[in-house]
Amino acid sequence: MGGRAKAILIVCDGLGDRPIPELGGMTPLEAADTANLNRLADRGATGYMSTIGVGIRPGSDTAHLAILGYDPRKWYGGRGPIEAAGTGLKLRDGDLAFRGNLGTVADDGTIIDRRAGRISSSEPFVPVFDGKEIDGVKFIARAGTAYRVALVMRGEGLSAAISDVDPHEAGKPVSPVRPLDDSPEAARTARVLNEFLRVTRRELLEHPENAKRRAEGKLEANYLLLRGAGLHRALPSFEERYGLKAACVAGAGLYKGVAALAGMDVVEVEGATGLPDTDVRAKFERALSLLDEGYDFVFVHVKAADSLGEDGNYEGKRDFIKKISDAAAVLLEAPDDVLVALTADHTTPCALKTHSGDPVPLLFSGYGVIPDDVTEFGERNCRKGGCGRILGLDLMNEILNILGRAPLYGA
Ligand code: ZN
Repeated sequence: MGGRAKAILIVCDGLGDRPIPELGGMTPLEAADTANLNRLADRGATGYMSTIGVGIRPGSDTAHLAILGYDPRKWYGGRGPIEAAGTGLKLRDGDLAFRGNLGTVADDGTIIDRRAGRISSSEPFVPVFDGKEIDGVKFIARAGTAYRVALVMRGEGLSAAISDVDPHEAGKPVSPVRPLDDSPEAARTARVLNEFLRVTRRELLEHPENAKRRAEGKLEANYLLLRGAGLHRALPSFEERYGLKAACVAGAGLYKGVAALAGMDVVEVEGATGLPDTDVRAKFERALSLLDEGYDFVFVHVKAADSLGEDGNYEGKRDFIKKISDAAAVLLEAPDDVLVALTADHTTPCALKTHSGDPVPLLFSGYGVIPDDVTEFGERNCRKGGCGRILGLDLMNEILNILGRAPLYGA
């Protein structure tokens, strides 16, 4: 065997669940036909993981930081910088980043629709926001998927201690941005941002694209609803930390963002949509080919199990998990020097329709793994697995150890 062992880390968002009476008391993972995942479990070792801490309900953003070895208590600075990085924006320390939606707001300031009729692209409107400068603060904007826009404020003395523009509910009024503490930075940030929203609102109302939408009877994109303000701070490089040249294969912006902030190369795969129709097999195949092309570590994110769990759609979730397992056929054929790790960022029980603090199932298979007695991949079986229970921050250490790449602690 030439070279050093490599790893693929597959994070199936929201994979874990709780027993569901309609599925005969099984979870969607247990009820799904997961022949290939079971073979990986049979050959490998299983366990379960609390990504942030025991009983802590993780957000997808904080959970991914932890899984990749960045303690979110130290490194999490809000969702805005991660989403902005996910659009390909190169952030600088001190940038204040937001996630935003194009919304439809009535003349009296009431929100009619938070997504401007689910407008398919924000691209035509981005020039309204991008390049503006107010009181020495420069605004940088990029289109996210569909109605989403990432916005960055760049300048001296900015603060994330400001209120959201987005009231998170139609029928409510957009509120002017308020400082949330007594600092001059928060006051200045709120003032500049309110002026930006006033100016861009006027330009959006006069935008030819909106004249077209009015004529077609569609909702106008006439307001930028911002939330999740966060000051950017660079993460230490994943490659320098672990000695692994790393790439990311993901469909959705948040996960590309975490990877980009960690300095991974974000690789686009055709058919990777972040939706149930996504081409899971193409993502797994691309991950394997990236290892072949010189990467040591590929982080693959698969989204849809989480969205289906949030919809309470346990049959859809079960069927999507089968799709993941079917695609895992290519992982069974991975070269001998490849470790496959498969897990989730958090559990999304269909009964709760949101994230829970339940631990997630975890599976190691391939290079360096001592097999345990578990032969089927599921929440209950994983609790009997040889890896026991670990924390999210242990995962990269465990991967490095299995690969034989862990640094020696002591002498
Ligand atoms: Zn998630």
